[in-house]
Amino acid sequence: MNSDSVAMTDLSGKMHKTETVCIFGTGDFGRSLGLRLLQSGYRVVYGSRTSKNSPLLPKGSKVMTHAEAACDAHVVFVAVQREHYRFLSSLASNLKGKVLVDVSNNLKRGLYPESNAEYLSKLVPEATVVKAFNTISAWALQSGGLDANRQVLICGDRADAKQQVTDIAQSLGFTALDRGSLRAAAELEDLPLQLFPLWRLPFNIAICLTAFIFFYALTRDVIYERVTNGKDIAFRIMISLANKTFPIVSLVMLSLCYLPGALAGFLQLYNGTKYRRFPDWLDRWMLCRKQLGLLALAFGFLHVLYTLVIPIRYYVRYRINVYTISLVKDNKTYEFDNTAAWRIDSYYSMGILGFGLFVLLGITSLPSVSNSLNWREFSFVQSKLGYITLLLCTAHTFLYGWDKFLKPASYRWWMPPAYMLSLVVPCVVLILKLILITPCVDRTVTHIRQGWERQDKTSGNGIKTNHPLIA
Ligand code: NAP
Repeated sequence: MNSDSVAMTDLSGKMHKTETVCIFGTGDFGRSLGLRLLQSGYRVVYGSRTSKNSPLLPKGSKVMTHAEAACDAHVVFVAVQREHYRFLSSLASNLKGKVLVDVSNNLKRGLYPESNAEYLSKLVPEATVVKAFNTISAWALQSGGLDANRQVLICGDRADAKQQVTDIAQSLGFTALDRGSLRAAAELEDLPLQLFPLWRLPFNIAICLTAFIFFYALTRDVIYERVTNGKDIAFRIMISLANKTFPIVSLVMLSLCYLPGALAGFLQLYNGTKYRRFPDWLDRWMLCRKQLGLLALAFGFLHVLYTLVIPIRYYVRYRINVYTISLVKDNKTYEFDNTAAWRIDSYYSMGILGFGLFVLLGITSLPSVSNSLNWREFSFVQSKLGYITLLLCTAHTFLYGWDKFLKPASYRWWMPPAYMLSLVVPCVVLILKLILITPCVDRTVTHIRQGWERQDKTSGNGIKTNHPLIA
């Protein structure tokens, strides 16, 4: 048996090894990692410049000099900042043949010409360096990965070394994901420095759209009323305008989730192949569809909440009372309008159904739920139900507007009502989708997605094709 493992017998009577793991550095990360390793049944030895941190270290671990600790274990975690790595070159003989796990991150991108892991590999060439655990925080290690990210990304040049680190990660309750050779280390080191990378574009779109729609509605409703009729209705900013802005942003952002897919379909039709890369902007747009959808759902939620308070608003109760009193005074009756009843009930019904499906889309986009669906189920929910959601929400908006677009009074200062603006993108998306699902177009797109390629004629005009349906 190896010196860095001892034989243990568990309750089932099976023999298993208690491996010793060495950690260089007794800082926050080293201590959290050591605690987690001890809890998972490993023996832990610390390599440190001093033993003064011993009281802070998890019970059951030992502190030694770096050289002594390295001799005790085959896997050595380097929980030291890269700036201090230089001392490791003097330990080259002790670290020969060991697996060095580089957990380090940098404060900024592009600080050094090579990744920290590659630098470590240069300093100790006779050890095998594996980059891992740098995307896991000390806190996540302490909580056992239960409340935080469970994925440990691993890269390195030797499969056996990566396997050893993978085994450790799995024993600690994490899932290990192999990201390739040590050259991928720079990419892994950049990951913790990113600030919501996939959320940036959706956030910017949401902010710009909200600002635009809000100021548009402010001008049309509040400023127009003030300038033309001298009436101050600025109080409507708080609920009426907010409740005009949120559903519009929600609907436009929901349609923006489906627009890139439709554009990609047309692009594939145009290129006659799926093997040509999409433009970068389309790739980036496609990648953040989930975030766009979740933000759209958040705006949808706000719309629902704002709608629920409408009946208890002072302004609404005042208007109803004034109207009722005027009917009584004039001895008039409030005639029942069957068309209005149908329209308003349909409007609410479309809204409720659309929102219900929207919530379902949001739930199925959560990793814990989407992981339990197979690809067909996931694409059925996200694509088919997604388009139905868009259709219902668009119908909800059409029913809200009804015949307003025919009335000249709706065009204040030649500005159409805000709801009309919100219908532009969804209608474009639905029309594009309608074209894509017509049988002849759908067949061609399906063939392209199965790998069929249209071949351009090298001579003559027109396109030569080996497509069974077009040839
Ligand atoms: P830290 O609290 O500053 O601890 C670093 C340790 O390095 C010190 O406790 C010290 O241990 C050792 N050290 C300091 N100066 C040294 C020198 N000149 N020569 C040799 N050793 C020296 O840092 P940390 O937060 O634990 O982070 C350690 C590494 O883990 C860093 O590379 C960091 O990027 C990475 N990391 C940290 C986290 C986190 O959540 N904290 C998350 C992911 C990755 P001794 O006094 O025992 O020698």
